[in-house]
Amino acid sequence: MSEDGSGPDIFSCQRCGDCCKGYGGAFVTADDIHALSGYLGIDPLVLEKNYCRQSGRRPVLGQNENGYCIFWDGLCTIHAVKPRMCRQWPFIEGMVVDIRNWRAAGESCPGIRTDLSDETVKAIIKKKLSEAVA
Ligand code: SF4
Ligand code: SF4
Repeated sequence: MSEDGSGPDIFSCQRCGDCCKGYGGAFVTADDIHALSGYLGIDPLVLEKNYCRQSGRRPVLGQNENGYCIFWDGLCTIHAVKPRMCRQWPFIEGMVVDIRNWRAAGESCPGIRTDLSDETVKAIIKKKLSEAVA
């Protein structure tokens, strides 16, 4: 059960790093860039130019030739200020919009439980999302 007794734990990160590889990179918001800039002591504009690339109209963290995020080195080297997208995973709106996304994500993320009913998973994700904005 979850620590707060709200239901079964549906996610437990195994720290395998698979989500830090591929998938087009981690989107960064202006707040993410601000936090990262302060953490690394790099000017925000320089940070965006040298550590990010554009994906459509939004910046994402750059990736090494091996496909991993440039901040992955056996673990996340910017864990304290990692982008919101990384902090929220896998409790994101898209999972509620179509619960099949949860099961698809579970095929590549060993921390995701796929043995529970869609209703149970949906309810827990919704609760996590509401807590995140509260
Ligand atoms: S793929 Fe899943 S289990 Fe592996 S590091 Fe990412 S979130 Fe954790
Ligand atoms: S910022 Fe950290 S958690 Fe996010 S993709 Fe890069 S290494 Fe992974």
